[in-house]
Amino acid sequence: MTRNIENIFEPPPHHWVGNGFRVHNFFPGGPRIGLKRMSPFFLCDYNSKHTFPPSNVPRGVGSHPHRGIETVTIAYHGKVAHHDSVGNSGIIGENDVQWMTAGGGILHKEYHENEFNNKGGLFQMVQLWTNLPAKHKMTPAKYQDLLYRDAAIFNSDNRKVSMNIIAGEYKNISGKADILMPLNLFDLSLASNSSVEFNFDTKHNTGFLVIEGNVRVNDRNDVPEDNFILFKNEPGRIVIKANKNSKVLIMNGEPIDEPIAPYGPFVMNTQDEIQQAIEDFNNGKFGHLD
Ligand code: MN
Repeated sequence: MTRNIENIFEPPPHHWVGNGFRVHNFFPGGPRIGLKRMSPFFLCDYNSKHTFPPSNVPRGVGSHPHRGIETVTIAYHGKVAHHDSVGNSGIIGENDVQWMTAGGGILHKEYHENEFNNKGGLFQMVQLWTNLPAKHKMTPAKYQDLLYRDAAIFNSDNRKVSMNIIAGEYKNISGKADILMPLNLFDLSLASNSSVEFNFDTKHNTGFLVIEGNVRVNDRNDVPEDNFILFKNEPGRIVIKANKNSKVLIMNGEPIDEPIAPYGPFVMNTQDEIQQAIEDFNNGKFGHLD
């Protein structure tokens, strides 16, 4: 039995986040994926392949707050630099991941890394926001650099299948990310004609983003680069076969069954908590970042 596709989404028209991130927003508010449909994943911004010319002005987004979520950035091409009010900073490049727990509050800024910005070049990345359940919303802020060289990798078929287990677990390989609720995030590379299979909990929401190439799903649907596949919540396995060399970002997790109140960079449970977040931000309680 296979777990069937609910819908395949082409990338919606792009918009700019600051002057550095040219993103297609698949959810929320994108093409017909509701606020909680991919919970615990709340937001998916996808910077499809884009070549930036050399620049001597910084490209990115300046200091801004978050509360109630984690932001997860996966770099495919180019380099991104991060600085935050907790004092963390880091640079991620190809296949690296950064996992920032905003929790009770943080300020951060995200920019193209200096040297990359000066030279310009091909840029491709994904930013996800994972929602936090009420009991973890005010957890202390934290930053994890998850570099590819230290990653937990699942390999099979003479490495034609290679999958970075960023978070969660696959065939007894556990991801390096410290996570606060049950979810899986895998970065899959498949050589042409190789295939891999998944068997996720029926109730857990599941979506795949085709980063590169073209894949056949369940021996039935061919899905091209830059498309998002939303699966039904039903029992069954998912088989992904590469029609050519391909990369797929695998998202799966247990939905958070709580009210949701999103407002800009804050995702809380109630409007009162949103008001409190705005007040706390205005009163400097998120720390300081130049
Ligand atoms: Mn941010």
